[in-house]
Amino acid sequence: MTRRDVVVVGSGPNGLAAAVTLARAGLGVLVLEAEPTVGGGARTLDLGLADGITHDVCSAVHPMAWASPFFQEFDLAARGVELLVPEVSYAQPLPGGRAGIAFRDLERTVEALGVDGPTWRSLVGGAADPAVRVALGDKRSIPVVDPRAALRFGLGVLEQGTRAWDRRFVDEVAPALLTGVAAHAISPLPSFAAAGTALLLATLAHAEGGWPIPRGGSGALVAALRADLEAHDGLIRTDHRVRRFADLPPAHCYVFDTTPRTLVEVLGDKLPPRARTALDAFRYGDAAAKVDFVLDGPVPWTVREVGLAGTVHVGGTRAEMARAEGDVARGEHAGLPMTLVSDPTVVDGTRLVDGRRPLWTYAHVPAGSDVDVTEAVTRHIERYAPGFRDVVVTSRCTQASRMSEHNQNYVDGDISAGAASIGQLFARPTRRWDPYSSGRDGVYLCSASTPPGPGVHGLGGWYAAKRVLREFGITRLPSVAPELSRSGSGSASSPRAR
Ligand SMILES: Cc1cc2nc3c(=O)[nH]c(=O)nc-3n(C[C@H](O)[C@H](O)[C@H](O)COP(=O)(O)OP(=O)(O)OC[C@H]3O[C@@H](n4cnc5c(N)ncnc54)[C@H](O)[C@@H]3O)c2cc1C
Repeated sequence: MTRRDVVVVGSGPNGLAAAVTLARAGLGVLVLEAEPTVGGGARTLDLGLADGITHDVCSAVHPMAWASPFFQEFDLAARGVELLVPEVSYAQPLPGGRAGIAFRDLERTVEALGVDGPTWRSLVGGAADPAVRVALGDKRSIPVVDPRAALRFGLGVLEQGTRAWDRRFVDEVAPALLTGVAAHAISPLPSFAAAGTALLLATLAHAEGGWPIPRGGSGALVAALRADLEAHDGLIRTDHRVRRFADLPPAHCYVFDTTPRTLVEVLGDKLPPRARTALDAFRYGDAAAKVDFVLDGPVPWTVREVGLAGTVHVGGTRAEMARAEGDVARGEHAGLPMTLVSDPTVVDGTRLVDGRRPLWTYAHVPAGSDVDVTEAVTRHIERYAPGFRDVVVTSRCTQASRMSEHNQNYVDGDISAGAASIGQLFARPTRRWDPYSSGRDGVYLCSASTPPGPGVHGLGGWYAAKRVLREFGITRLPSVAPELSRSGSGSASSPRAR
C-alpha cells in the first residue's frame, strides 16, 4: 500500500479546505469520506421528493463563506461560483402583521426600524472586518484589529448576552430581528455565545456580500474545492467510513474532519490518556430537525418584504424565542419551535423546476429528539403566512436522532458539532494551546468542533493545515488562489509543477 503524506478523514468544507491547502503545498493527500457523496454539511442533493428539485441537505446560506479569509483567497467567483446576494438578508415576521426586515442596505434597515434604528446601527453597523477577525480567528492568536472596534464588539456581546439586552430598545421589532440571528447558536437566550453569533452574522448582513446563496446550491462550493484538490493530485475515496485505526491507510499525518468523539473511537488507546479524557469531556449541544419541502408557489408571507429575504427566522417576538429556546435547553419541545426558513429561488431562478421550488427549513429541538416536526414547522410558518399549507406539494423530515445517519458529525442532531457555549467557543475542542492537535503526534482535528466553530468557512481546515505543514518542515502557507491557466484566465484545473 502506498504511504501517503496526509490522509484526511471527512470531506466537509473544513476537510476539503485542509486537503486543498496541503495538496497545494505539494503533499500527497487522500480524503476518506464515509458517505457516497462529498461535501458533508455543504451538499446539494436530489432527495427524490420531486423531479429535478435539489435540496441543500445542511447549509444553505453563506455569510461565513463570503467573509472567510480562506474562501476570499480561494476566490469562489474566479472559479465560477456565484454567490447571489438577496436584497433582504433576513427577516423576522411578527404577530399582528408586522415584520423586522434586515435589508442588505444598513441605512434602509435603520430607517425602517424607526426609533430603534440608531441602536441597531451602533450594534451591527460597523465594518465587518473586526468582527470577522475576532470571531473567525483560531481563538489562540490575538487578532489584529482596531481596539475601538474590538471594544465595541465586546461591549455589544456583554449587553446582548445578558438580561440588559433590552436596555436600549424601545419597540419590539429590532430586538426580535437580532434575536432571530442569535438563535443560530441553538442555546438558551440571552447568552454570550448567542450574542457573539448574532453580532457577527448581523454585521455581515449589511456588508457587501450580505447573506449570499450560491447559484445551484451549497454544492457549488464543494465542487470548486474538489476540482482544486483533484487538480493538485489529491484523491477522494467515498463510501469509506473510518471506524478504527485499521481502516486508515499508512500515512505520515492524519487530519480528522470529525467530532472528537469519532477521533477517540478511531484512535482508542493510541491517544495519551490525558488527551483522551479532555476530548471525551467535549460537550454536544441541542439539535435541529430538518424539514425539506417542495412548494408549487412562493410562501404567502403576510408582509410582502419577508418574501424578499434569503433567510426568514420564524420565532415571533424576542420573548417568544427566548421561551422556545429555553424549552429546548430543558429537554422539551417548544409548541412553536424556533424555525429557520430559506427559499433559494428568491435569488436563484435555476432552482425552480416547472413552477416548483425547494423550501429549506429546520427547527430547534432537544438533542436526540425523534419527533417529526413537519406539522409544528408548518403551523409556525402558517402563523405568518396563512395558506402556506396549500402551496406544499410534499415534504420530508429528518429527525434530530437521524441526522448522524447522513453525517456522523451531527451527534444527536447537534448541527454545530459541539455545544456553542462561550467556554466551548474558546476552548474548542479542549484547552490545549494548539486546538488542532489531538494529543498524539501526527494526528489532527480540523472540523467545526475546532476553532472557529460551526459554519461553512473552511477555516478550521485552513488553520489545521498550517499546523500540519510544520510536520513536513513547511513554514509558508501555500496560496490557495486560482492559478493562471495558459490562456491567462483564472482556473482551478491548471496543472501544478511538482
Ligand atoms: C441543517 C443544517 C443547516 C445548516 N445551515 C448552515 C448555513 O446555512 N450556513 C452555514 O454556514 N452553516 C450551516 N450549517 C453548519 C455547517 O454545515 C457546518 O458547520 C459545516 O458543514 C462544518 O464543516 P466541517 O467540514 O467541519 O464538517 P461537515 O461539513 O459536517 O463534514 C464532515 C464530513 O466528515 C464525514 N465523516 C464523519 N465521520 C467520518 C468517518 N468516521 N469516516 C469518514 N468520514 C466521516 C462526514 O460524512 C462529512 O462528510 C448547517 C448545518 C446543518 C446540519
